[in-house]
Amino acid sequence: MAGTLEFTPDDRYNAFITTCSEAPFSDGALAGTAIAVKDNISTAGIRTTCGSRILEGYIPPYDAHVVELLKGAGAAIVGKTNMDEFGMGTTTETSAFGPTTNPVDTSRVPGGSSGGSAAAVAAGLVPMALGTDTGGSIRCPAAFCGIVGFKPTYGRVSRYGLIAYANSLEQIGPMARTVEDVSRLLSVIARHDPRDSTMIDRPYDHQPSANVDGLRVGIPDEYFGEGVDARVAETVRDAIGVLEDLGARTVPVSIPGMRYALAAYYVICTGEASSNLARFDGIRYGPAADIRKPWHEAYREIRREKFGTEVRRRIMLGTFALSAGYAGRYYAKAQIARRNIRLDFERAFRSADIIAGPTMPTVAFRVGEKTDPLSLYLSDILTVPANLAGIPAISVPCAGRVDGLPVGLQVMGRRFEDERVIDAAYAYE
Ligand code: GLN
Repeated sequence: MAGTLEFTPDDRYNAFITTCSEAPFSDGALAGTAIAVKDNISTAGIRTTCGSRILEGYIPPYDAHVVELLKGAGAAIVGKTNMDEFGMGTTTETSAFGPTTNPVDTSRVPGGSSGGSAAAVAAGLVPMALGTDTGGSIRCPAAFCGIVGFKPTYGRVSRYGLIAYANSLEQIGPMARTVEDVSRLLSVIARHDPRDSTMIDRPYDHQPSANVDGLRVGIPDEYFGEGVDARVAETVRDAIGVLEDLGARTVPVSIPGMRYALAAYYVICTGEASSNLARFDGIRYGPAADIRKPWHEAYREIRREKFGTEVRRRIMLGTFALSAGYAGRYYAKAQIARRNIRLDFERAFRSADIIAGPTMPTVAFRVGEKTDPLSLYLSDILTVPANLAGIPAISVPCAGRVDGLPVGLQVMGRRFEDERVIDAAYAYE
């Protein structure tokens, strides 16, 4: 079976930046399945913008490894989804292509930064999508839109062809309406690729199993404490109760290093971003700078004009944190905090097989509700620890809702125990 899939969605949520009205597909496990791809993942011949004006007319000459794999499995790539500019955000409001709205309630944000992928799946425009998660960008929009989203173990999916935001933290991962579909998509994209030197050759070939008998579920205090909406916490506790009814048992664990998680995350991700985004200079990519001017003026003009406020803020922060005389004070300390968090998880995973808590401290915010960057950064508190530690983490919708809005149950596991995390989510669902 091979052919062309016609795709002309009613995109009233602005989930897509680019759609492919005729998407070719071939034979394979996903033959003819429409898949949406986040717009920071390179697609040969299809515009790839990262939600930024600086890449407005950029058409990659090659496919990301995950896109090669999707095509090889017969999937039809039907479009590129909206996102916070370069993945920097929690609401999809920083996109240069306008915000995406939440299909569950259009007065709410879909979460971010993979908000377009989540909205496309939640609205039923596609059954599955790819997102990327640097500090929660798959799990947050999955939680806000009531779908399933999974961030694999760092090194399990190739980042070749992903336009980098913060290399040491990010992974590409699947988003879908069911855990089973997330698992299916993961088995296509988790394949070894020598072009990503951080990859470990552990292909994912797994049929989800709903057996959680005897599973030890670690419950960290830090995930139910200050800043977490009491009704969200209650809804998640009910969900964990369901796992207990199925034979799992809970154990208290603690991740004390979490109080430094946001500070560490924002120093590391802005540092990496400031270095990664240096290549967007109006010469190598994107709209042309006026090269008759002195080089620094030409760079400054194009970067000031084409990058959005949040991106410029993070480049400034990251450049500062990495500069001579300050790097020891900020970056080196952030790396120590990061290591402590990884060790905290390792310790917790001695008494627990998985760790569970809420994905986000609240339900989806209203569009335009949160404008100051600090309060947005704070809402990443429950997702960034998994990225700092490199561990797998899934968000699966809870049965209960708060104010009619979806709540995500987050399940984290040991490095390379992605299968166990998927199984726990599958059992709950
Ligand atoms: N909200 C986080 C940030 O703004 C996460 C982003 C992401 O995972 N790409 O950095």
